[in-house]
Amino acid sequence: MTSSGFSVEAARAAIPQLKVQVRGKGLVYLDSGATTLKPQSVIERVSRYYLNENSNVHRGAHYLAEAGTYAYESARQIVADFVGATTKEEIVFTRGTTESLNLVASALSDSGRLKGKQIIVSEMEHHSNIVPWQLAANRSGATLVAVRIDDRGEIDRGHLRELLGKQTAVVALTACSNVLGTIVPVKEIAADVHAAGSLLVVDAAQSVTAERVDVKSWDADFVAFSGHKVFAPFGIGVLWAKKGILEELPPYQGGGSMIHQVTFENTTWADVPQKFEAGTPNVGGALGLGEAISWFQAQNPDLAMAHAKSLAEKARQELSAIEGVTVYGAPMKRTSIVAFNLNGVHASDVATVLDQQGIAVRAGHMCCQPLMVRLGTKAIVRASFSIYNTAAEVESLLVGVRKAKEMLN
Ligand code: PMP
Repeated sequence: MTSSGFSVEAARAAIPQLKVQVRGKGLVYLDSGATTLKPQSVIERVSRYYLNENSNVHRGAHYLAEAGTYAYESARQIVADFVGATTKEEIVFTRGTTESLNLVASALSDSGRLKGKQIIVSEMEHHSNIVPWQLAANRSGATLVAVRIDDRGEIDRGHLRELLGKQTAVVALTACSNVLGTIVPVKEIAADVHAAGSLLVVDAAQSVTAERVDVKSWDADFVAFSGHKVFAPFGIGVLWAKKGILEELPPYQGGGSMIHQVTFENTTWADVPQKFEAGTPNVGGALGLGEAISWFQAQNPDLAMAHAKSLAEKARQELSAIEGVTVYGAPMKRTSIVAFNLNGVHASDVATVLDQQGIAVRAGHMCCQPLMVRLGTKAIVRASFSIYNTAAEVESLLVGVRKAKEMLN
C-alpha cells in the first residue's frame, strides 16, 4: 500500500508497539485519538538524552548542561516550524493540552480581562476546554456559555454570532472534535471572534495529526496541543501564542527559571517563553516531541493524514450499513475518528468484545459529558485511526462489531 511519498508499511515498521500480541493475536490499535503509538526513533531520542545529555537546562555552565539546553531549544524551534510560528519564543512547553488551557484561562483571569465578562465554549468541547474556563469564570465573576452544535456536529455559526458581543472576552473552541471528528473552520471563526473584539483560544489536541496546523493562517490568539497525540512521549505539550500577548500576560506559576530578579519585596519576570516555564522542564519529553514531529514530517503528512481519513471513512460507511449501529455526527469536513454505538448495548461491552479480538478502541464519555447529553447517550465507542493503520484493520473492526452484535443483542 505505497502511494507516492507515503508508505504505511514503512510507518508501521517504525512503531515497535505494533508487534505487541494481545491474547495471542496481533494488536489492532484503533485508539490513536487517546494517544498515538510512538516510533522507535522517539523512544531512542529520549533514551539518548538520559544516556548522553542528562542535565538541567538554562542553568549550568558545564558541557552536559550546554548540550541539554541546545537540544531543548532546538526542539522548540522544530515545534515553531511545525505550527508556522513567527519565532520560537511563541512556543511555551507545558505538560499537555490540559495544562496549556489552564495556563491561558488562569493568566487571562489574573490579568483582569475576564472580570464580569462572557466566555464562550462549544457543546462539543473536551472537559479540558470547559473546566479551566469554569474555574476562571468563578474567580473573575465571568459567565460561561456554550455555543450550540447542529445535528451534523458542526458549530452553529449563527448562534455564535448571536452570542458574540462587547461582553465576550474569550471564545475557546476545539479545532477538531475528539468524538465526532469535526474539523472546525478556525480561520472563519477567528474573523467573527476578532470582529467582536474578543480572543480565540484553540484546542488543537486532535488537529495536529488531522490537518496541517498553521497558526498564522488560523489567526487564533492561543493554540494548545499535546505531544502524546503526535507520536511523542507523555508529559510534554505546547501552548502557542503571539509574543506580544505572552509578554502582556502575568505568569501562571512561580518558581525557578521564570524570574529575572527576586527580592522579598518584588519579583520581575524572565523573558517569554521562560516566564511561563517555571521549574525544571520535561527536557526528555521536549526532545522526544522534536523527534516525533521530524518523524511525522518525514512520512509526507498530507498523504499520511489522507490515508488515515480514508480508513475512517470506510469504517464510517460500513458501520452505518450494519443494522442496529448508530454512527454519531456527519460533519462536512472530518478527521479519522468514528463514534458509534450498538443500539441497546453499553459501549463498554462492545469495547470488551473487541478487546477479546485484539482490537483496541475507547468506550465511555470521552471526557465530553455535555456532548453526550447533546447526542442523547451516556457513552459511545470510538475507533480512531492513524497513519499506521491499514484497510485490513478496518475489516477486523467490522468483523469485531458484527461479532459483538451477535453476542450482545
Ligand atoms: N482536547 C481534546 C480535543 C482531546 O482529545 C484531549 C485528549 N483526549 C484533550 C483536550 C486533553 O489532552 P491532554 O489530556 O493530553 O492534556
